Amino acid sequence: MGHERWHALARDLDWEPSYVSERALFPEEIAGSPFRPRADWEGWEEPYKTTFAEYVDMQSAKERSLLAVREAFGSARYFRSLDRSWLSAVKLHGATLALAEFTAVVGNLRAARFGRTSSWRTAACFGALDEIRHTQIPLSFMSELVRHDAQFDWTHRLYHTNNWVSVAARSVFDDLLLASTATELAVGANFVFETGFTNLQFVGLTALADRVGDHLLRSMLASIQTDEARHAQIGRPTLEKLVAHAPDVAQQLVDKWFWRTWLLFSVVTGITMDYLTPIERRTRSFKELVEEWVVEQFIAALDELGLKRPWYWHVFERSLETYHHMIYASAYSYRTTVWFDFALPGPEERAWLRSHYPTSWPSFEPVWDRITELWRATDPGVELAVHGAAIPTFCSLCHLVLAHGSPERNDACHLMHGAERFVFCSEPCRWIFEQEPERYTKTLDIVKRVLAGVAPGNLMEFVRHYSELRHEVWGKDVHAGEYPWLERGAR
Ligand code: MN
Ligand code: MN
Repeated sequence: MGHERWHALARDLDWEPSYVSERALFPEEIAGSPFRPRADWEGWEEPYKTTFAEYVDMQSAKERSLLAVREAFGSARYFRSLDRSWLSAVKLHGATLALAEFTAVVGNLRAARFGRTSSWRTAACFGALDEIRHTQIPLSFMSELVRHDAQFDWTHRLYHTNNWVSVAARSVFDDLLLASTATELAVGANFVFETGFTNLQFVGLTALADRVGDHLLRSMLASIQTDEARHAQIGRPTLEKLVAHAPDVAQQLVDKWFWRTWLLFSVVTGITMDYLTPIERRTRSFKELVEEWVVEQFIAALDELGLKRPWYWHVFERSLETYHHMIYASAYSYRTTVWFDFALPGPEERAWLRSHYPTSWPSFEPVWDRITELWRATDPGVELAVHGAAIPTFCSLCHLVLAHGSPERNDACHLMHGAERFVFCSEPCRWIFEQEPERYTKTLDIVKRVLAGVAPGNLMEFVRHYSELRHEVWGKDVHAGEYPWLERGAR
């Protein structure tokens, strides 16, 4: 039977339940709220349809070509051929993505049972199979690199620790992929995160990996991206139905998830593009990528759906100019708290950043001047002399450092809930918390863990025992603070 005829016959096989009510079959708490009868979901249609037989053929061809690339580039050759700061970007991506993809398996399986139409459930079933690959591919590729560099071990290890990046990333991925209803997952993961961010990020990052000469990462991302592009299409038809029957819920979910996934995206991709990519390989800034690929397409999609851009758009626009710069400066200053290394931006990098961020960059100059001065006064390799000493404060919603705003004006704000005070990095984070406080009060931020005696207040204790980092693994300056332009001899 031909593809089209099979689809017409089999892809949408819903029926009226007779033993239980439809509401009992799709409880609001797990299928999505508000409950709408089946008739309201009729006509849900994914643009790119596939059958199981086609899926298997396609995926096995992808696996074969990935394995061929891996055979062609032995791990030793790969490791030696790449710039050290770029390898840091690979470590950051590998660790934050690999097991997050596994939580996406769980999320997709929930949608494969509780999605409201059978075609949605079928597409989610393929999605779950996809996400198993996305967990296995980076784990298998990066495990080969552990023998060259122990930091790659964190590809698997990160989410099993209480490292602050893990706490922050878990808070967003658990919320999105493990705690969401099938409908919230479709809007937050499939529409906002996958269509809005990751799909485009993968395209951009694949091109960047190609320029850097990282053929392994390029083929890995390209292979994963083709899956994402397919299962991400669950988002749009779901959102269309939601707009038709519960427009306020649709808008609220879009606003919430755009902000939550933006912060994480900005940390991972912003740092990679503007700091960890060797300067001679950069073609555009993170901001340019986001404006061209994310903002334009996201706004066009919202317009088509009859949705408004999120209420905090002005905050987002400022964020685009500053947030990842704030995070990088802060993470550089606390590099022993993570599992990858950092490059100190020198005169050339700073000139590049100034030309790409003419309005915001000047306020970051004094920050890097101070760090540079500290290195100049210190011998190479004495990392802790150029390092923060106190434990910074974290946001009660996103669990990232309070680094929203600019060096002159931090956006941190707070809220009393009951008798308890909660601190947030920005207004959108506070707004998200206010919408569903019972969902967010239970996770203690790092500072509250210290105050509750769960985590140590001394930074080195915190790094060694709570974040589980050893000296061989924790983050350092990629050149141990030894840069020709530092002119240490002149001191
Ligand atoms: Mn994935
Ligand atoms: Mn996905």
